[in-house]
Amino acid sequence: MASLILASNRLPIQLLKDGTIKRTTGGLSSALEGAGIGEQYTWVGWGGPCPSAGRSEEDLKTSLRSLGVEPILLSEDEIAGYYDGYANSTLWPLLHYMQERSRFDARWMPFYQQVNEKFATAISEIADEGAQVWIHDYHLMLLPQLLRKKRPDLKIGFFLHTPFPSSEIFRALPERDALLNGLLGCDLIGFHTYSYLRHFISSLIRILGVEADIDGLWHQNRHIQLGVYPIGHNRDGFQKAATTNTFLQQHSAHAKHLGSGKMILSVERLDYTKGVPEKLQAIRTFLESHPEMRGLVHFVLVAVPSRRGVEEYEALTERVQCEVGAINGTFGDVGHSPVQFLHRSFPVEELAALYALADVCMVTPIVDGMNLVAKEFIDCKYPSHRARPGVLILSEFAGAAHEMSHAILVNPHDTAGVAQAIHTALDMDEPQMWKRIHAMQRRLELNDAGAWAKRFLADLSSATSLSHCPQ
Ligand code: UDP
Repeated sequence: MASLILASNRLPIQLLKDGTIKRTTGGLSSALEGAGIGEQYTWVGWGGPCPSAGRSEEDLKTSLRSLGVEPILLSEDEIAGYYDGYANSTLWPLLHYMQERSRFDARWMPFYQQVNEKFATAISEIADEGAQVWIHDYHLMLLPQLLRKKRPDLKIGFFLHTPFPSSEIFRALPERDALLNGLLGCDLIGFHTYSYLRHFISSLIRILGVEADIDGLWHQNRHIQLGVYPIGHNRDGFQKAATTNTFLQQHSAHAKHLGSGKMILSVERLDYTKGVPEKLQAIRTFLESHPEMRGLVHFVLVAVPSRRGVEEYEALTERVQCEVGAINGTFGDVGHSPVQFLHRSFPVEELAALYALADVCMVTPIVDGMNLVAKEFIDCKYPSHRARPGVLILSEFAGAAHEMSHAILVNPHDTAGVAQAIHTALDMDEPQMWKRIHAMQRRLELNDAGAWAKRFLADLSSATSLSHCPQ
């Protein structure tokens, strides 16, 4: 039994070559550690496409439970309908304002419902009386109400890691009523920014006719608290990474290679929301209009493969590789390619070395719920990390832009504007760079991942348990 339960689509586990399973440290687990919660909670989620390695279901469940996780096992049909279908092909693009990419297939919702039911059953069986349940993200929007029906005694919180779009977009969803009603099973619903919260409130009134204030609403004789909780990055992880040998080795190798050149870094999953083709257009425009900078600037693109095997993502990868080749062919020279495309994932120590050395970091998503890379880059700019000063170029459509006004804010669709921002960043004098960095660091120090989790859980625990609207 458990008094605090976390529910998310994916469990933080990894299957090792020898068939054993270990827990991994992701953003959420380090946030809870930072909040001082350590491992005093049970994590309910899906283990991924094939974590069983030939074990029986019971054997698998027993070894996972010993790691503090409660697995939800999914059939092939459920993976196709709930995960690949409704969550990733309908909701993900729609929540990111990409209505034209959102696919509506009536066969998917029953699987989404079925998997949300599975989570509700699993949680209701292990939750202590009055336990707190913190549900994460768009995969589980029906879960709060399903769980409330089974266990009205629980305190249920939900945090959305993506944007919540304008009601004009959200109301295009055939299942819009069901999703909103699903969330209304909560005691507390949290978003990254006030804009997302306001969009949610307008969807409630326009779609369900339910009125809400900015901080909460009464619904069916229950109070539901609403709040804004901008997620922070894992500060401790990055501070520790900067003291490791790997960091030091990588740092000196890159510094030697760079010499007096300038590094313009970007780090992202290769997802269509991240605006990589648009960024390459801006890089092309910059190199065209500043021939004097060719040979001096090194664009390093870390692009982590995402959703391999999905046609749309394969096409994006091909498009990006093609454009990188074209830019290098046009603007490169013997011994110099302006764009280095690194199509893999880097460990935190190596990322920290890149962040510390980069002169500019380009974070230019088309839409992004928050974007942690922007925060991590600024948080690696400490003299103790042998950091060079650097400038953040940040899309105004990333949630992080609400907190990081000392970045150069850009519209990622404005190719000439982004190219100009690269020039402005390279031209900035050092005192100005440090001034901006320090202003952003002061804010990041107060709101890291641990502080974010602590705030949400404190509000969940004090969310009113009144069951009648005071007159
Ligand atoms: N990241 C990583 N290795 C890489 C590239 C990225 O560990 O090679 C991490 C990065 O440090 C950040 C996260 O992936 O914490 C990306 O988070 P973000 O909010 O920027 O975007 P998301 O991928 O969640 O949409």
